[in-house]
Amino acid sequence: MSQIILGKTGICVNKNGFGALPIQRISKEEAKLLLTKAYDNGINFYDTARFYTDSEEKIGYALSHVREKIYIASKTMADNVKGFWEQLNTSLSLLKTDYLDIYQFHNPSFCPKPNDGTGLYEAMLEAKDKGMIRHIGITNHRIKIALEAAESGLYETIQFPFSYLASNEEIELVNKCKEYGIGFIAMKALSGGLISNSAAAYAYLAQYDNVLPIWGIQKEKELDEFISYVKNPPVLNKELSEIIELDKKELCADFCRGCGYCMPCPANIDIPNSARMSLMIRRAPTSIYLNEEWQEKMKRIDECINCNHCKNHCPYGLDTPKILKRNWKDYKQFI
Ligand code: SF4
Ligand code: SF4
Repeated sequence: MSQIILGKTGICVNKNGFGALPIQRISKEEAKLLLTKAYDNGINFYDTARFYTDSEEKIGYALSHVREKIYIASKTMADNVKGFWEQLNTSLSLLKTDYLDIYQFHNPSFCPKPNDGTGLYEAMLEAKDKGMIRHIGITNHRIKIALEAAESGLYETIQFPFSYLASNEEIELVNKCKEYGIGFIAMKALSGGLISNSAAAYAYLAQYDNVLPIWGIQKEKELDEFISYVKNPPVLNKELSEIIELDKKELCADFCRGCGYCMPCPANIDIPNSARMSLMIRRAPTSIYLNEEWQEKMKRIDECINCNHCKNHCPYGLDTPKILKRNWKDYKQFI
């Protein structure tokens, strides 16, 4: 299966979506090369956001000449109607287009609905009426909000983290979306870098014919890997199944997904990486995380003022300060 249909939207795209968050970290020309290569190799779904600094601008720069041949999804974090229109107009202008295929509420803390007093959903409908957007979507990291959005019948696509580490409740969300004809866009299919075997990640998601993974791509080597999987899809054989089972055992429910919603930290702690350090030093090349720079960053955990900002903003309900301290203790012992 190399194509996927996003529910009732009817959008039919290459099974590999391009997650355009990481292209913020590379130059405009490097991004152009990457995006052009992706397009030339059949990737035709690009997911970006107003919040991803210059990601939209880079897509507009690289792909506006093939606009009609690709699908673009963007997102708004606006919490009021004025902000909604400002962000939508900015996105359209940076993407050099007059419509978005999917416009998504970007990880709101509630499920926007008509008559909820914010006017946000009504603004979506108006934008759709005006032809500025074609479909209404929502992204979230909280299972409760995603389930509520699925049940509401108001959303044509739902974007949610989904990988082989998914819980039963998360799998239920995917199945519900299929039942309701809602397109399911899977973010964090590599669980923010904790899953290092992309073939296993790919093979697992390929079992779900309603799930469109958007791979966060920053390097040509990563892009080449996913392009090669379309030609030669990895099969969920005994070897890959064992890797998945082992990872599931090792990564228990309270691990940090690296989403960054707990930031900023008043003590300047790099929470998304520090809270996963025990896993990172064992799963990634250790030299990266054991150098002086990282030792300094980890040391900042001692400066935590226990304000609980991180804990209160973590969509996974983690006790972040406690996890940070546990990681710092382990890190010191490890080195
Ligand atoms: S509790 Fe500590 S780690 Fe969390 S935001 Fe406050 S200072 Fe930062
Ligand atoms: S602690 Fe929670 S909010 Fe912060 S990066 Fe980890 S999963 Fe995300």
